[in-house]
Amino acid sequence: MAKYETIIGLEIHLQLKTKSKMFCSCSNDADNQAPNTLVCPICLGHPGTLPTVNREAIRQGLLVALALNCKVNKKSKFDRKNYFYPDLPKGYQISQFDEPLAHDGHLVIEIDERKWSIGIERVHLEEDAAKNIHSGDKTLVDFNRGGTPLVEIVTKPDFKTPTEAKEFLQELRLIARYLGVSDADMEKGHLRCDANISLRPAGDHKFYPKTEIKNLNSFKAVERALLYEEKRQTELWDKGQAPTMTETRGWDENEERTLEQRSKEGSADYRYFPEPDLPPLVIDKKFFEEARADLPELPLDRKDRLVKEYALSFKDAWVLVNQKDWAGYFEEVMSDLRAWVFKAKGMDSDKASRLWEEQKNALAKLAYNWISSEIFGLLPTDFKFSDFKISAENFAELMSLLYEKKINSSAGQIILKEMFKGVDDDPSHIAGRLDLLQIDDISTLEDLVTKVIMSNPDQVREYQAGKAALMKFFVGLVMKESHGKANPEAVERILKDKLNA
Ligand code: ZN
Ligand code: MN
Repeated sequence: MAKYETIIGLEIHLQLKTKSKMFCSCSNDADNQAPNTLVCPICLGHPGTLPTVNREAIRQGLLVALALNCKVNKKSKFDRKNYFYPDLPKGYQISQFDEPLAHDGHLVIEIDERKWSIGIERVHLEEDAAKNIHSGDKTLVDFNRGGTPLVEIVTKPDFKTPTEAKEFLQELRLIARYLGVSDADMEKGHLRCDANISLRPAGDHKFYPKTEIKNLNSFKAVERALLYEEKRQTELWDKGQAPTMTETRGWDENEERTLEQRSKEGSADYRYFPEPDLPPLVIDKKFFEEARADLPELPLDRKDRLVKEYALSFKDAWVLVNQKDWAGYFEEVMSDLRAWVFKAKGMDSDKASRLWEEQKNALAKLAYNWISSEIFGLLPTDFKFSDFKISAENFAELMSLLYEKKINSSAGQIILKEMFKGVDDDPSHIAGRLDLLQIDDISTLEDLVTKVIMSNPDQVREYQAGKAALMKFFVGLVMKESHGKANPEAVERILKDKLNA
């Protein structure tokens, strides 16, 4: 058993993707904009200006709180968090202190097919500070980001390993994307994370002073920094020098280590007090119910459903669920295949339902394999889903041709490439035009078989003398003769008939 237990908690800031900023009407889309062009007297903190709350930011914050299973406060309030820094023109940040938007939630995460729950302490809304850009010995400030809506999520100290913390963040990113509230790109700073870590002797129930790690710009950085800190603190405990004070350390990506920064301000240092310029934040029943109705199926639920509905493996289901657009595409293809089974067979719906139940797992596996290996293999690196032109309906038809063995898989690949290039989008039509349909016609196949038998008398004698393994050789020759289009099962049947006659 390990000597120490690791205790990790996360504080996460998520930038919301609203049209305008948190408390003014400036554009919130700062990507590729010249510095200090998205500013106004409100977000620059000019005296005499008044903030107004962005309703859409509240709605998005509420969606996050609901997705994290939090209790939502019908009434919360905004507070001023006072500190002095060049990126904060008002001299305070409007945040929420003792009455946050929501509290006491949880999120279920899954690692290696095992699920467990991570507690959420609180979810609150606030505005972002501006961005300091250090260049040489100067610091420049870009105020475009100042006033961007943020949702801050504080977890309970429920993580026992750095990997769990990383997995949680990755799931949170996916949830933000499913909710449509943020791109949650860590590299672009949409999702920012500070991690708190402390150790304690195994079996001890006390909490010891924690270390807060800042400057974590990627999921990898979160995991590596926590691993580093876990090791550093283990050595301190071993030497009898466990941390006695709360400390802030920064992650140095290049050196791969954490460095001491400063001892952390307590909340008293921020002199929080209620924001006098904003009324209390009231979430009325209608607003609450509308947000709840907007909640989509969340990634983990979707993954579980795909596994249950189509017998996909956990791994395959995650590949789809991790890419929301492709998960949607896959499900559309499946619903078109279902329609195909119902329509093509022209039978009563009870019988068609049974047939669908029998075939859907195989069809799902086929569709998944073709999406994940063939389609993904064709996508350029700068691919955007909106550029993808093959309709689910046409792709489903391609799957049905393969499933019914009307084409073989190399013909399928040729057809898919044509569809991908946008030359033609109807797979049956392409198969006909390029003469790729499988040959099932018995008399055509018999002619091919006869030709092969006639031109290989020695092998025929050996086969008839008992060398059964030669069957593969004959089938191969017929396939070659037919340019790969002969139905191999039919060919083997005919060969057996003729050779054993
Ligand atoms: Zn503004
Ligand atoms: Mn904050």
